Amino acid sequence: MTTTREQIAFDVLFVGAGPANLAGAVHLMQLAKRRNLNLEVALIEKGAEVGSHALSGAVLNPIALKELMPGYREAGCPIEKEVRGEAFCVLTEKSCFSVPFVPKYMRNQGFHIISLSKFVRWLGAVAEDLGVNVFPGFAGQEVLYGQDDKTVIGIRTGDKGIGKDGKPKANFEPGIDILAKVTVLGEGAQGALLGQMERKLSLFAGQVPQTFETGMKEVIQLPEKNYFTSSAANTIHTLGYPLGLDTHGGGFIYEMKDNRLALGLVVGLGYGDPMLDLYEEFMRFKKHPFVWDLITNGRVVEQGARVIGNGGYFTVPRLAVDGAVVVGASASMLNAPGLKGIHTAMKSGMLAAEAILEAFSKGRFTQEALAHYHDLFESSWLKKELYVGRNFAQALSRKAPLKFIHLGVQYLTGGRGLFDRMSIEKDAKTLRPLKHGGPETSRNKYARHDYDDALLVDKLTGVYLSKTQHREDQPCHLVVHDRDLCVNECFEIYGSPCTRFCPGNVYEIEVEEKTQKRRLKLNPSNCLHCKTCEIKDPYGNITWTCPEGGDGPGYTVA
Ligand code: SF4
Repeated sequence: MTTTREQIAFDVLFVGAGPANLAGAVHLMQLAKRRNLNLEVALIEKGAEVGSHALSGAVLNPIALKELMPGYREAGCPIEKEVRGEAFCVLTEKSCFSVPFVPKYMRNQGFHIISLSKFVRWLGAVAEDLGVNVFPGFAGQEVLYGQDDKTVIGIRTGDKGIGKDGKPKANFEPGIDILAKVTVLGEGAQGALLGQMERKLSLFAGQVPQTFETGMKEVIQLPEKNYFTSSAANTIHTLGYPLGLDTHGGGFIYEMKDNRLALGLVVGLGYGDPMLDLYEEFMRFKKHPFVWDLITNGRVVEQGARVIGNGGYFTVPRLAVDGAVVVGASASMLNAPGLKGIHTAMKSGMLAAEAILEAFSKGRFTQEALAHYHDLFESSWLKKELYVGRNFAQALSRKAPLKFIHLGVQYLTGGRGLFDRMSIEKDAKTLRPLKHGGPETSRNKYARHDYDDALLVDKLTGVYLSKTQHREDQPCHLVVHDRDLCVNECFEIYGSPCTRFCPGNVYEIEVEEKTQKRRLKLNPSNCLHCKTCEIKDPYGNITWTCPEGGDGPGYTVA
């Protein structure tokens, strides 16, 4: 058993194999080659493979991809379908009303329907071909700082082979210190390392609070003759049922190749009803007559969940600090009104790559040297896209009909609306105590599901279909700071909402037979790494930490 921690040094380290970092790494290598600059670049990914933790809608606006690789089709970019027509529908409990126009931000003509998992696998191979050292199965555990305690000098990866009791086992392998002149954080929304960095360097100081949505998604195998065989529209977005007017979110249905479709429900985490069960809402969406007609005789082949940061421009953090930059969803780079984050993430990674190259030409990697990334962002189409949606999440958080007035005025004023830089509450603060409404409405509506293990699957089957795996004998990666708070105050006031906002059935409240005392039971091996619990817990009592590298979902077509 070795306990010596190895150190490896690179010029640039990308943390996370999402579209932002992969586009950034590819662009950096392209630019370096053009300048005959030899850079040692590494990319680590906590999933077992590149793509195994990648989950998204996903309709791709190819604008950034065209800039990165004009010949992407010839280079084998995996595209499921071209968007050939779109529909925008409002659902009531029993009916579906087709809106005669698609709002301008949501138009998808000329875009591609992709599987994000397949797309990033392909982009990972492109990066490797260009010389990037790609290391899947390595989870960043800790940000490393220099002697001044503020310059980021790299990342420590997690130890492997620690037992549940916190003690090293025979197969113990200490994590590695990966040092770099520049570290690029692209962990996706609610990144664990970014959270550490925020506590030390306050990257989000002065910004509007970040807000999130949870997206639950399935890929469904359909019979050969299906809805899309004769439908002009192959991307469908829905509003309304099952969420109602005050909980924002909506559904999406996209055609994929080989008679498959991607279907999902996105729920804004600023909801107030503590009895709302995200997964059960997803099941209700699927059982709506319009959706059910589309998927009848189908079979779920993959399921997953992930949070999406929808806060937009006013929640973008400081993009550069000494020795590091932040990209993609970690940096709130999502076009919320357009429901798209892949092309925006890619562009942010590419802009960061340009700034990093500039820093190498100066030989300085301070915040000031890397701030060129911020300047590039401010003068890019990316900023323009985000700026149009700068008050969008805030408008969605208001109650109807005020919400629609705000959205309407924003639509007409290029995003400014009635008030610019609108405020918003953190998602953790929006739950109403039970006595102010909830159980009567929600409990009853979830009582009638007939899971069939094919098209309607329960949470545990969903976890199985996400191919999620964790080594059982390791410390729990979900840190619940005060369990008494869970079983007493949170149970009494909110009815333990963790048992409903977690789509993986990780949290359960049990009553011990002997003592009749309540107890919080955790099933961390079910965790889909969606991060909803850390965001929505009303007491901030849960910290999501990275389990052993290689653990978690195993998405292949999501
Ligand atoms: Fe998501 Fe948290 Fe549940 Fe894991 S434990 S699936 S991160 S809500």
